[in-house]
Amino acid sequence: MLESRAIAAEPLIRVENVSKHFPVTRGLLVMRTTGQVKAVDGISFTIGRQETLGLVGESGCGKTTTSRLLLRLERPSAGRVLLDGRDVHALTGAALREYHTRVQAVFQDPWSSLNPRLRIRDTIAEALVVNRRVSKAGRLERVEEVLHQVGLPLGAGGRYPHEFSGGQRQRIALASALASYPELIVLDEPVSALDVSIRAQIMNLLKDLQARQKLSYLLVAHNLATVRYIAHRTAVMYLGRIVEHADTESVYRNPLHPYTKALFAAALPADPDAPRDDLILSGEVPSPIDPPSGCHFHPRCPFALEQCSRVDPVLRAITSDHAVACHLY
Ligand code: SF4
Repeated sequence: MLESRAIAAEPLIRVENVSKHFPVTRGLLVMRTTGQVKAVDGISFTIGRQETLGLVGESGCGKTTTSRLLLRLERPSAGRVLLDGRDVHALTGAALREYHTRVQAVFQDPWSSLNPRLRIRDTIAEALVVNRRVSKAGRLERVEEVLHQVGLPLGAGGRYPHEFSGGQRQRIALASALASYPELIVLDEPVSALDVSIRAQIMNLLKDLQARQKLSYLLVAHNLATVRYIAHRTAVMYLGRIVEHADTESVYRNPLHPYTKALFAAALPADPDAPRDDLILSGEVPSPIDPPSGCHFHPRCPFALEQCSRVDPVLRAITSDHAVACHLY
């Protein structure tokens, strides 16, 4: 596992060999389990303090399930998620409430976290009532503070969600996440629903908030340029596994795994300074119910070796900050 760049001895979040398998059931009267969807299959990573890890990959690769595991919206089938060394899925009572203040989320669709019938200030204050014991005056003061931090005008708290643009609503979702003084925010496609002109503003805001408030982010995004702009490290997922994990500039300038090369060639304009052997990503992503044997990528890989369909490549460090799961290395 590649360690976070954080100077602190223990990273904020440590994901240890985590899997999430969902049963596939069949039958009308009697349901039978006929297989398992291996949405996440034995992944490990860390996120340091004030660090951003980007997760990229095609739809269905396990990015969103990974983020849901960190948010405790799913329980792992195996492995552990540790926050400051404590298993987050074993937390109860006050420790669990504390977890929900320390770890927050911002999703693609800000509407999902906003009640259209509540004024903005009440929506944000409600989150504070659930998560922290703060007086009413203290809550209102905190609401004004976070609205100011995300760049919304004075008085915005008294208005309703429909009175704001898409970009402003994403600022409100961020303010809501910030209210409980979190340390980690899971950003699941935070700018993909926004106009291109607004995206840069929100991405800059995210970077600015991270620097000022020492936040850590797990950034899930299909837009590779967004991840490159925000993430310090990037992990590439394919069919539930991490196939490459490196310092972001290292993985973008010098992708090693054939899947990463093909993914980047399809999505990013060529960098004139970097020699690239562009690959074309052909074929569909195989079903996670019955993934290919050995390296899951072998049916689509132009470099497949004889052993690739039999032997599972392990994620191995090639340099101190670049790991890849491929028999070519
Ligand atoms: Fe291709 Fe083999 Fe590497 Fe998989 S392990 S990416 S099939 S060369």
